[in-house]
Amino acid sequence: MRIGIIGAGPRGLSMLERLLYNQQQEDIEILLFDPSGIGGKVWRVDQPKELLMNSLASQVTMFTDETLSSGGVVAHGVNLYQWAKEFAPSYLSQTTIKEKEAFLCEAANLLENQPTSRRFFGVYLQWFYARLQERFFDRFDYIQELVIEATKKEKQFILRTKEEAYVVDQLILATGHWEHEQTSEESQLSKYAAEHHLFYQGPANPADVDLSMIPAQEPVFIRGLGLCFFDYIGLLTQQRGGRFEELEGRLVYRPSGEEPVVYCGSRRGLPYYPHGRNQKKVGEVAQPVILTQERLNMYYRTKKLTGEDFFTDLKKDLELFYYKKVIEEHGLSIALSEFQEVFLGATEKEWLRKYPELSSHLWSWDLLDHLTDHTLPYQQMSRRYIEDQINEALKGNVSGPLIATLDALKDWRNIVHQVMLWEVFSAKEYKEILWQWFNTFDAFFTIGPPLRRTQELAALIDAGIFHLVEPPFTVVGKDKRFHLEPEGLTSSYLIEARLPKNDLRTTRNPALISLRDAQILQPFQLHDPSGDFVSGAVAIERENSRVIDAHGEVQNNLYCIGIPTEGVEWLTASVPRPHVDFWNLRQIDRIAQLILAEES
Ligand SMILES: Cc1cc2nc3c(=O)[nH]c(=O)nc-3n(C[C@H](O)[C@H](O)[C@H](O)COP(=O)(O)OP(=O)(O)OC[C@H]3O[C@@H](n4cnc5c(N)ncnc54)[C@H](O)[C@@H]3O)c2cc1C
Repeated sequence: MRIGIIGAGPRGLSMLERLLYNQQQEDIEILLFDPSGIGGKVWRVDQPKELLMNSLASQVTMFTDETLSSGGVVAHGVNLYQWAKEFAPSYLSQTTIKEKEAFLCEAANLLENQPTSRRFFGVYLQWFYARLQERFFDRFDYIQELVIEATKKEKQFILRTKEEAYVVDQLILATGHWEHEQTSEESQLSKYAAEHHLFYQGPANPADVDLSMIPAQEPVFIRGLGLCFFDYIGLLTQQRGGRFEELEGRLVYRPSGEEPVVYCGSRRGLPYYPHGRNQKKVGEVAQPVILTQERLNMYYRTKKLTGEDFFTDLKKDLELFYYKKVIEEHGLSIALSEFQEVFLGATEKEWLRKYPELSSHLWSWDLLDHLTDHTLPYQQMSRRYIEDQINEALKGNVSGPLIATLDALKDWRNIVHQVMLWEVFSAKEYKEILWQWFNTFDAFFTIGPPLRRTQELAALIDAGIFHLVEPPFTVVGKDKRFHLEPEGLTSSYLIEARLPKNDLRTTRNPALISLRDAQILQPFQLHDPSGDFVSGAVAIERENSRVIDAHGEVQNNLYCIGIPTEGVEWLTASVPRPHVDFWNLRQIDRIAQLILAEES
C-alpha cells in the first residue's frame, strides 16, 4: 500500500510517525510532500529569530506518552525544552544549518517556561524527522515539491508535482495554513495602494512579509492586535536594532532610530491577553467540578446534553474555579467546600448575599474588564488594561485567579472536543454559541502572546513608538494616502496583522482546489430546524477525519486534518502538549490505525 501525505508541518510529520510506529510489517510505502522543507512553512529555520512561539518550551512535544487514549503504539520522547538541553547541542553541531552558533546559544540559554523562537522549533521538527529516518530509513520518501494537482482515478489518487505524478492508495491532506483570495475590502485597498504607490500588506504570516521599504520615523497603520501583531512588534523594533532593557523590574525600550511610528488598533481595541507565568508541572491540569467525565458520560448515555446546557455548565465550572482562587488569593475566611456547595445550588444574587466580600471580585464574561476603569479616556484606559494584563499574568497560572481560570479553560479544551464529537450542537448553537461567542472569547484570552511580548508592547507605548487607536480603526484610501477615520491621521503604509482566513471556497492551495473542483472536497454545512451553519472548513466525518464529498459520500481513503478543517473541528492551530492526551496526536493516531487496518 502506498500512502501520500501532503504537508510536512507538525501534523504531516506526526502522521508519518504514527503510521510507522503502528505498522509492524514492512509492506507500506509513504510519500511525504512539502516544498517548504521538513517542519513546514510556519517553522522554517531561515526565518528571523525575533519571531517567537507562543507556547512554552516544556509544553510542546511531538511525542506520544502513556496518556494517549486512542490505543496506538506509544513512542516516548523529549519535549522541546528537554530536547534543547539533551539533544540540540550534538544535533546542531552535526548540521550545516546557517547561524548555528545562534541556535546553540538559544538552546543553552533556554529556560523551561520560556517560549523558543519559531525557527528553533523548526530544528526540533527536523531532528524528529531525522530520528524516523534512522529507524525506518527504507519505508518512506520525502519529496520537496508542491502538489499542484490531486485527482482521483478509480480508487486511487494521482498527485502531480511540477516534475512527476505519483499514485497513492490512501491520501492524507495536512496542508495547514495557505494563501486565500482577497476579500472585497482587501482587494480595494490593495488596488488603491498599487495606483498611488502606497504599501498595503494583506493578511499573511509576518515571517513572509518584506518590511524593508517602510522607512524610519514614518507613520504606519497596523490593523489587528492578535498574534500576528505581536510578530510585527519584533520585526519593526528589535530587528531594526532597538533593545529592551530591564530597569527596576520593568522593560524600557532603547530605540535605534530606525523604527517607524506605529498606529495600531482593532475592532475590539485591546491586545490579546498574554499567557500567564507558568507554575504548572508538565501534565498538571485543573480539574472540573461540574463537567467531570462521569457527568459527561451520563449526559451522553441519556442524550440529554444540548450545546446551550454544555456551555452553561462550562461557564459555571469556570466561575466556581475563579471564585475559589479569589478566596485563596485574598485569604478570605470562607471554607472552599462550603462555598462550592452554596455556589452550585444558588444564583449569583443568592450566593453574594451570603458572601458579600466577593462582590468586589465579580467575574465578567464580557471582556473580563472588571479590572480596568473603562470610563477613562481611551489612551489611558488601554495602557492601564495592558498593565493589568501584565500584573495578572505575573501572578501565575496557579495562584492568579484570573490567569489560573483562563488556564483551566485551556486544560478543558479536550472536553469541548469531546462534546463536538458527540454532535450535541444544533446549527444555531454551533454558529451563535460555539463560534461567535465561545471561540472569540477563547482566542482573545487563551491563545495570546508570551508575557514578554506584552511587556514589550507596554515599553514601546511608553517610548512613543506604538500608539493604540480607539476602535473601530477604520482605514480608507483617500487623497493618495491611507486615512484613519475619524482620527485624522494619514499614512502610506497599512498592514493587516492577521492570517488569511481559512476557507475552502477561497483557498489558493492547488491540491485543495483540484479536489474541490472535482467535488471531492466540499465546505462543511449543518442544516437543521434551528437554522443553517455553513463554514469554509473541509467537510469530514468528525470521528475519523474521512472526507465527505459533495454528494454526501464518505471517501474511505481520503483524510483531511488540521487547519483546513477548522469550522468542523475547533482550535486546530496548535502543536501538541505533553502528557495530556493531546487532541492532535490522538486524532492522528486513530487515522493511522484505520489506514493500517485497511491494509491487513
Ligand atoms: C505565524 C504562525 C505562528 C504560529 N505559532 C504557533 C505557536 O506558537 N504555537 C502553536 O501551538 N501553534 C502555532 N501556530 C499554529 C500552527 O497552525 C500549528 O502550530 C501547526 O503548525 C499546524 O501544523 P500543520 O502541520 O497542521 O500545518 P502547517 O504547519 O501549516 O503545515 C502545513 C504544510 O503543508 C504544506 N502544503 C500545503 N499545501 C501543499 C501542497 N499542495 N503540496 C505540498 N505541500 C503543501 C505547507 O507548505 C506547510 O508546510 C502558528 C501558526 C502560524 C501561521
